[in-house]
Amino acid sequence: MLDDAGLHALREAARLSPDNLPLRRHLAEQLLSKGYLAEAEAEFRAALVLSPQDPDVIAGLAEAFVRQSAYGAALSALEPLLAAPGHAPRARLLAARALLGEGDVAGAARRYHDAVARDPSLADPDLAARLAPQPATPHPPQAAPSGTPHSPGADPADGAEAERSGVTFADVAGMEAVKEALRMKLLLPVQQPELFAAFGKRAGGGVLLYGPPGAGKTHLARAAAGELGAAFISVGLADILDMYIGSSERNLRATFEMARRNRPCVLFFDEVDALAARRSDMRQAHTRQLVNQFLAELDGVDENANEGVLVLAATNAPWYIDVAFRRPGRFDQMVFVPPPDAAARAAILRILCRDKPLAEMDFDAVAKVTDGFVGADLKGVVDRAVETKLHQSISAGRPLPLTTDDLLAVAQATRPTAVKEWLGTARNYVLHANDSGAWDELMPWIDGKKGGKGRW
Ligand code: ADP
Repeated sequence: MLDDAGLHALREAARLSPDNLPLRRHLAEQLLSKGYLAEAEAEFRAALVLSPQDPDVIAGLAEAFVRQSAYGAALSALEPLLAAPGHAPRARLLAARALLGEGDVAGAARRYHDAVARDPSLADPDLAARLAPQPATPHPPQAAPSGTPHSPGADPADGAEAERSGVTFADVAGMEAVKEALRMKLLLPVQQPELFAAFGKRAGGGVLLYGPPGAGKTHLARAAAGELGAAFISVGLADILDMYIGSSERNLRATFEMARRNRPCVLFFDEVDALAARRSDMRQAHTRQLVNQFLAELDGVDENANEGVLVLAATNAPWYIDVAFRRPGRFDQMVFVPPPDAAARAAILRILCRDKPLAEMDFDAVAKVTDGFVGADLKGVVDRAVETKLHQSISAGRPLPLTTDDLLAVAQATRPTAVKEWLGTARNYVLHANDSGAWDELMPWIDGKKGGKGRW
């Protein structure tokens, strides 16, 4: 690998001959291998302009995306390679990592095995372990908390997609500022319309939730629906984009229409960056059309079209979101969903454990050793501890309560997901781009005034 002086020379050379494809590709690969992800991405994009079909450049760009947690963007970049039969095992491996990042373990496993069958040198034991089928957990992952049972309230005529949320803000630990922002934006206009009207405010528009993967964006959106007593429709934008051209537009329209039929309704779009990244890729006319349709649906055909439909969107990579999405009446409010601090981690653990048989618990002790863990990581810790306990209970022939030590043991053997890496990426993007104040909420985390020590 190059040292910094070598990298500097390479940058200089590329600057002097911007059309030299091999040089730019080499620079991009070097940046990638040294972890300068945002800069690598920019170089790969520049190389892609010079050679739009170059599989190495596409794969490099996709890797830069994956390492920045922009999984939707990675999948859309890889699309042409994956569509070509028998092509590019590296692309398949990257697709596996992106799908895993999106939570599609089965899809990821398929891609991974496909890649390794074509090129055994790509085998990655760490990745393979994360793709191995997990033994069934004793508790369903989205178990409704006691007292707020899941109601099968979806309108059968709408298929199974509009759900009744069984969770409310009481099930979301910490994040008081975030909840307050959502209450103001989403809930009050619906709960107290006269008050809002009196101040000349109109409900509408959406809120963009952003933050590291697993920090609770989806959980929060579902809770907002429960808090409001609204139906909840969750859509992975990457899924819509993966459908064939014409029908993906039909699907998008049908989704908005379903939300309007189920009002009040929270319509949640995950991975909006997938759409935004494609818009910048102007080569794909149909994608542009889809983006425009998305924006048109958001704007509504008439003033009342989206009344009672609250649109939330989530992304791990907010810097890819086109400014067109942020115009007034669209996603004009961005809310940062931060990684939890120690108090929030203790509160999350308390919520995750509350329907389990427990000994006397010291959640603060567990919070202390889980610096850098997000909600999803903590859920993983609890699930694994419960599983072990279940096995012990079966051997003992009686139910054994979960203890603090059980959680500590699993936590200490677990590596958190990459919050640190995410904050590093965020830093690259926003440090010198906060003139409008759009990233004010994120700034204290970027410049180290907030957040834990040690692992992130
Ligand atoms: P994201 O959408 O940001 O990737 P999720 O909402 O999928 O993250 O979070 C993963 C899981 O972590 C949730 O299903 C929930 O069980 C748990 N979780 C995350 N944050 C919280 C929180 N603040 N309170 C309670 N549980 C949480």
